[in-house]
Amino acid sequence: MIKQLIPPGFCLKCDICCRFLDRFSQMRPYFLYEEIEKVGKHSLKPFKKGRALLISLIRHKNMYICPYFYPKENSCAIYKIRPFDCRLYPFLLSHKDSGIFLCADLNCPFINKNIKSKSFKDYISCLKKIFSDEKLINKILKNKALIGTYVDDVVFLARLKRLSKKLHAHKEKP
Ligand code: SF4
Repeated sequence: MIKQLIPPGFCLKCDICCRFLDRFSQMRPYFLYEEIEKVGKHSLKPFKKGRALLISLIRHKNMYICPYFYPKENSCAIYKIRPFDCRLYPFLLSHKDSGIFLCADLNCPFINKNIKSKSFKDYISCLKKIFSDEKLINKILKNKALIGTYVDDVVFLARLKRLSKKLHAHKEKP
């Protein structure tokens, strides 16, 4: 379980999460198979990438939204069982050179406001520890689609050494 940095009240007033400008946005969430079993398969299209599935967005006004998103309430219908990818957001995993980096989406107003604060730095240290856990590393290695190649609007925060090393070793296996 990832401890959340952003107070829920802040998210309820924000109009960024769960909405996308492009139907095939790289930022749309991935669901792992075990997560799909929890929420049912009705609104998921099998865009296979590794072992995870990318959700199929739906049109809403002049943008696209996650099918589990209620725009009027600004809330998630499956909040308690939302996927790991959503729990991690506004933090993301991204490839850069030969490493895996912990990144943050600068479109998130909370990130923009707090990126220089001590509590933010402490939280990053905490996330780095979480991503050195063997069980989580193995889960990510089985679901490499969780690692994106984000560039625009993303800030690189820390190289995840252990995960990078394991991924490299994993690739070299015949
Ligand atoms: S699953 Fe929930 S938190 Fe994740 S994008 Fe959809 S509505 Fe948002």
